[in-house]
Amino acid sequence: MSKPIAAISAAELAAVQAVFFDIDDTFSGGGGQHRITAQAYDALWKLSKAGIKVVPVTGRPAGWCDMITRMWPVTAVVGENGAFYSYLDHAKKPAKLVKKYLETPRVRASNALKLRKLHTAVLKAFPGAKTPSDQHYREFDLAIDYCEEVARWPDARVQKLMQFCEARGAIAKLSSIHVNTWFGRYDKLTCVRRILSQLFQIDFQNVVYIGDSPNDEPFFERLPFSVGVANVRGFLGKMKYAPAYITEAEAGFGFAEFAERLLRSRT
Ligand SMILES: [Mg+2]
Repeated sequence: MSKPIAAISAAELAAVQAVFFDIDDTFSGGGGQHRITAQAYDALWKLSKAGIKVVPVTGRPAGWCDMITRMWPVTAVVGENGAFYSYLDHAKKPAKLVKKYLETPRVRASNALKLRKLHTAVLKAFPGAKTPSDQHYREFDLAIDYCEEVARWPDARVQKLMQFCEARGAIAKLSSIHVNTWFGRYDKLTCVRRILSQLFQIDFQNVVYIGDSPNDEPFFERLPFSVGVANVRGFLGKMKYAPAYITEAEAGFGFAEFAERLLRSRT
C-alpha cells in the first residue's frame, strides 16, 4: 500500500542523489491540461541548482529528447522508452550532445523494418487508429494515440491493440495517452541502469523515481524509493506494483510538491 509523501523518512530523502521522472502527466499536466506548469518547471530548476541529478524518462520521440537535452535544466534524458539516453558533455567546448543507444546499428535497422510492417498491420486491423502528430520525430517507436488527440478508446480496444502487437513479437506499453510499441531488447529500467553505471556511478539506493501510470511500474517494483503523483490512483487497479508514496496533488503539481519536500530536507 502506498503511503502519503509526508511519511517519507529523513534518511530516505537524504540519500537521494538523482531524481528520475516520467514526463506525461507526472511532470507535465495539472489543472486539467497537458502543458508544463510554471510550478513544475521551477521545481526542476531548483532541483538542478541544488546539485541533484535530474533525468526525465519518457516514451516521447527522439526529436523531443534532442531539444530537452539541450534546453531543459536536466542532467540526461531517457528517450523512446529506453532506446537511448542523451546528455550534454560540458567538458567539451562548446558543449556536445552525446547519445548512447542500447542496441547496435545492425539490430536497429532490422527492427525498423519490422516496425514498418507492424504499422501497416495495425492500421488494417484497427480502422481509424492514428499515430500522434509527433510520430515523425521518433526513431524506434510506433505510438498509437488512444486519448491525447482522439476520442478516448474503450479499454477493451486498447487491450486488444496491445495483444495484437505482442502477438507479432513487439513490446507494447501503455502510457497515460499512447500505446507505445517497438521491436528491440531495451526498456526504460535497463536504460536507467546504464546511466547509473556509465554516467553517474551511483546505485539504486540513491535514486528516486516519480511516475503516474502502468508504464512506470517496473520502477515502482524495483526501486526502494518511488513516488506516484496523485493521478496514479486511477491506474492502481491495473497495476501489480504501486509506488511507495503518493503525492496529494496531481501531475506537475504533484511533482513540484515532492520536489519541495526533497529540497526542504536539504536546508
Ligand atoms: Mg506518464
